[in-house]
Amino acid sequence: MPGLGELPLVPVHVQDAEGVWDLNWQRTGARNMLRHYLNSETILELTAEQARYFHVPLGNLPADPTIFAADLFYARHLMKHNFLLWCSPTERPDLGGREADDNRLLTECEENSSVVTNNPGCYSTVCIELNIDGLAVNTLLQSHHVNDIEGTSSSVSFDTIPQASLEDMMGGQVTVLPSYDETALCSGAFRVLRSMVSAWLRDVSLYKNVFADFQILHFYRWLRSSSALLYDPALRRTLHNLMKKLFMQLVAEFKRLGSVIIYANFNKIIICTKKRTIEDAIGYIEFVVQSIRNKELFHGIDISYQQCWEYLMWLDPSNHGGVQGKLPAGLTEVGVGQDGSTATKHNEEEAEEDERESNEDINDEEDDEGPAILMNWNVVEHLRNVGGCREYFGAVIAGYISAIYQHLQHVEQPQTPVRRRRLGSQSQILPQPLGIGRFATTAEFAKQLINGEMAQKLYKITQTIHEKALKQAKNLIKENDEDQFSWSKNSHMDLEKVSLEFVKTVCKVLSLDSSVQDEVTKVRRNMLRLINVGDFSDEAVWHDPCVSFVLPEVICKACNHCRDIDLCKDNYQSTENDSPVWQCPLCRTSYENSEIEYLLLDIMHRKAMAYTLQDLQCKKCLQIKMENMPEYCSCAGDFQTLVSRNDLAVYLKIFRGIAQHFKMPLLLETVEFNIQMNPGLIA
Ligand SMILES: [Zn+2]
Ligand SMILES: [Zn+2]
Repeated sequence: MPGLGELPLVPVHVQDAEGVWDLNWQRTGARNMLRHYLNSETILELTAEQARYFHVPLGNLPADPTIFAADLFYARHLMKHNFLLWCSPTERPDLGGREADDNRLLTECEENSSVVTNNPGCYSTVCIELNIDGLAVNTLLQSHHVNDIEGTSSSVSFDTIPQASLEDMMGGQVTVLPSYDETALCSGAFRVLRSMVSAWLRDVSLYKNVFADFQILHFYRWLRSSSALLYDPALRRTLHNLMKKLFMQLVAEFKRLGSVIIYANFNKIIICTKKRTIEDAIGYIEFVVQSIRNKELFHGIDISYQQCWEYLMWLDPSNHGGVQGKLPAGLTEVGVGQDGSTATKHNEEEAEEDERESNEDINDEEDDEGPAILMNWNVVEHLRNVGGCREYFGAVIAGYISAIYQHLQHVEQPQTPVRRRRLGSQSQILPQPLGIGRFATTAEFAKQLINGEMAQKLYKITQTIHEKALKQAKNLIKENDEDQFSWSKNSHMDLEKVSLEFVKTVCKVLSLDSSVQDEVTKVRRNMLRLINVGDFSDEAVWHDPCVSFVLPEVICKACNHCRDIDLCKDNYQSTENDSPVWQCPLCRTSYENSEIEYLLLDIMHRKAMAYTLQDLQCKKCLQIKMENMPEYCSCAGDFQTLVSRNDLAVYLKIFRGIAQHFKMPLLLETVEFNIQMNPGLIA
């Protein structure tokens, strides 16, 4: 409407859910318009408050105000400290032309990005999964301490440069900055970043300002989003490196306090508590987390409960199973029930009797319902479902878990820790096995179970599957399962090998518990003999059947939860509009496939660029080639590339598989183009 150009306009950014726009669209549209009009007053009020905090004219707020405001605040802080702004709408910061030569900034960013600890095994005591939040902000605020804990001082480390003094600036003396590292060059800007976030934090703690809180929540999204005006990959990498260091410290701290880490990445930690009851385990976690939080270094990290297991077999995040325990209702944040739990600790000895009784009550209740067994095995998806081997796998493993768990509940008395050991004396205690080896009678029971009942069952199943598979192979009926992951290269198993794969998978899972390893080996040998495969042949070695590609730090739009997704075997998936999508584990919102497609395209371009720009290395002395022309190294060795051609081919194959399975046309086209242009890359 051209007439409106005369008046000041305030846009209201509301997004409608994509409703049904059929022939009735006029009615739906009119209703939506009216609804927005009636809502506009509250929205305007809120926006006005926000604009007041940002010191921005009301009409100038864009659709994503937090990102915009982060840019704005940062720009103001930078100006105050005599910086030139590097605003640019692209992902390269505007450094006056220098950035065009510096492709290195954009290449290795995503590689080996997050630190992951994974300890496969079998855990017979209560295991608790904790969510970690606020690592980025905490790291930024504590960045000056991160160097201290490493034993170096920030003044001697390589990543800072001396600031030019005022006299030098006035005298017009040019200080030549050594450009050995981007982190050194951006250290000044990094300090400004820290002061910006601490200003927000002050607003939150002093004035209880919700908008400042919002800024802090979205800080990491802003730092990572390449569409932000002041986006700088070097800043992001600096913070990421610091986060890695801090995270290692956090894990080390958990270990120092006696926890066993089963799995840990930037968003979650799974801990084996070595306690028999959930109450004890929670008390223990409260104690550990509280003492971690009392350290200034980890002060700002949010830790909350996710779920717990009473018995857990763990291979990796997409391959685990066990008995899920119930956390007390309403228990989310660690430390909330702190007062209550310390009180119980004091009266522990008196309450011990009652506790035992109540524990028995709980056990009885659980026996009535039967333990909630959670099975989550991605490896099964890669077994061809011939002769019902997937069902057999589920039945065998679930049966085993349930038998062991029930035996544990009935025979072994829950031990309540009567006397707490001091930390110093822990090193003298012999390490106890974490699996059922802790409990002598149960271990004995498990051994008998595997040797007797289960062995017989497994032999029968193996034979059945083997016969059926052979029969099918003869008839050459190719059965096409819909849920077959035909795109991962190893899942095209020959029919004859189905029984072999079944044997390998079952034995791999059972042997997670080291205390029954001998028995499992024996059963495995016999099963292999049934299908005529040698015990020590190459075929009989277990490999992970699924390829894996981890997309780091995907941020959920609805709840701001940030996590790494293994695109090939993630558990949180569903189907929307006939194509599979990934989901946020917290709020079950699905991520947009097109967004992930663009992330993948980006990664592919980076990989191609990194491959093209890489250095040559001598095969013999492993030195990097310095001069441009020589054909051989000075030690007469041949040259090789740092990144091998095969690595690139593997990535291309994975990307092609993902693009086909998740219906990403643009990615598929780009991958196909790359494959066509490089004949011989993929055989
Ligand atoms: Zn979410
Ligand atoms: Zn050489």
